[in-house]
Amino acid sequence: MEPITIAIIGGALLAAAAASGKSKGKASSKPTWPLVNAYTPRVPETGGRAFKASRPFSDVCNSDREHGGIDLSGNEGDRLVAMEDGVIVATQGWDGPMAKAILLQTDRGPVLLYGAVAPNSWKKFDVQVGTRVTQGQTIATLGVYPGGSTMLHFELYKKGTTKNSVWCEGKPQPENLLDPTEYLKSAIPESKSKA
Ligand SMILES: [Zn+2]
Repeated sequence: MEPITIAIIGGALLAAAAASGKSKGKASSKPTWPLVNAYTPRVPETGGRAFKASRPFSDVCNSDREHGGIDLSGNEGDRLVAMEDGVIVATQGWDGPMAKAILLQTDRGPVLLYGAVAPNSWKKFDVQVGTRVTQGQTIATLGVYPGGSTMLHFELYKKGTTKNSVWCEGKPQPENLLDPTEYLKSAIPESKSKA
């Protein structure tokens, strides 16, 4: 329920529902940075692996592929948080036994894919498919890629997506895959944005 503000001014009764903000908690239109304990501004202009960077041969593509997300460096066990309110809609295999992915359908529309998540780490936080989560809530921890690296590989999708799409080199960008660059930049913490 929206909060209602009622004021009597000069005999007139003015009732105004707060048009913005949420019905509970602190209202924020700015997404929360997805990695706790680690802020590395590896969005593309600072040298991180960018959206559409060339990646090695893929069996799925039978060719090289395009990078469908952005990589943010982090350490195994770093906590991942919901960038916005929403519902966990899927978990899936990602790359090897210690690197899974979890997908969050935001209330606002886009779907967030967090890659290289530790298997079942969501269970430690009482999160599973169907769980409603609130902005800033821990949903999982970082896992380990087969080669030993640890990073958040972040992808952004259109509403309704429940599985990643592979982008093969020379092919059009998958219809439901979005460039997450501006979205991640909008989530850079205030204290870091001038650095
Ligand atoms: Zn990546």
